[in-house]
Amino acid sequence: MLHSGSPTASSTFRPLIDRFGRQVTYLRVSVTDRCDFRCTYCMGEDMTFLPKKDVLSFDEIQAIVSAFVARGVRKLRLTGGEPLVRRDIVKLIEAISATHLASGALDELTLTTNGSQLGVHATRLAELGIKRINVSLDTLDDARFTAITRRGRLGQVLDGIAAADAAGIAIKLNMVPIRGVNDDEIIPLLEWAHGRGYDLTLIEAMPLGDVAIDRSEAHLSLREVRDRLAETYALEPMNKRTGGPARYVRVGETGGTLGFITPLSHNFCESCNRVRLTCTGQLYMCLGQDDKVDLRAAYRESGAVGLDAALDRAMILKPKGHDFEIDRAEPAVRRHMSVTGG
Ligand code: SAM
Ligand code: SF4
Repeated sequence: MLHSGSPTASSTFRPLIDRFGRQVTYLRVSVTDRCDFRCTYCMGEDMTFLPKKDVLSFDEIQAIVSAFVARGVRKLRLTGGEPLVRRDIVKLIEAISATHLASGALDELTLTTNGSQLGVHATRLAELGIKRINVSLDTLDDARFTAITRRGRLGQVLDGIAAADAAGIAIKLNMVPIRGVNDDEIIPLLEWAHGRGYDLTLIEAMPLGDVAIDRSEAHLSLREVRDRLAETYALEPMNKRTGGPARYVRVGETGGTLGFITPLSHNFCESCNRVRLTCTGQLYMCLGQDDKVDLRAAYRESGAVGLDAALDRAMILKPKGHDFEIDRAEPAVRRHMSVTGG
């Protein structure tokens, strides 16, 4: 649906509409490829991160965000890597908040985080207008947490979640269930989350980048999980649609919301409303395809005008759908989730 009521609407307002009639209203920005964790399904043990000079500056991120907002993007999610480990990240959030949230041009500014730095930043994030966040949490067991993240401490993340909650930020937990690793914790995590008023979303592991785990062995279909959960709980489908791969149910017994992100088992592409910016300024129009547009080059060469033209090129290139298949030996896409931004 076109947002004709957008504050950016005018006679020259040109929404971002691709060849298949889908309007892009949602931008995810990876602000860094770095992370303080090395989750087994996301990264290798020995990751080589980008030199700082290759990463977009805050000014460049701001210019790109402004270009998208001028073309009708209403929702912005900061991610990574771990967004809260980027130095001075709060300054970037302050700038975006002051420019685009305060004016009402953006409906929502949010982030996806591993929670390790939330204890430090939660209060300020709430003051800056962040109303909801996604926090990744795959287990409630200390030793398992350290095994999955290779270096994280569960207590620090739980303290961070509590700080965000106390600051009034709504919390959605993201869990990636992996067969034989944490699939026995789906119900405990569901009860824990809903008992505290948090939503829980289960994400099916996606074949992105080379990582240590064997993907086809570890793969757990969320359809199977949903069928198993339905033996214990009343799962009532909800209408909530976000234009992404998530489908939601209300759990009758807890009253909480449970999401399923199943990019492998279902096709969600026909309603896709989003694009993703890497921390080097590459715009990917699809998480599962390699088509991209270099927004940093466009901006460096021709400023705001160049960016605007690059967004038109991006809309022509946005593919109809993704190309994931779990059984193949090679990852469908070479780049890790931490590069494209989850
Ligand atoms: N560091 C932050 C975090 O962990 O929330 C933000 C970036 S992380 C790449 C975003 C989300 O992607 C997390 O919820 C993580 O669990 C998920 N993720 C990472 N690699 C994945 C994969 N191969 N398949 C499915 N989800 C993945
Ligand atoms: Fe870091 Fe998030 Fe990837 Fe874990 S999932 S390694 S926290 S970027």
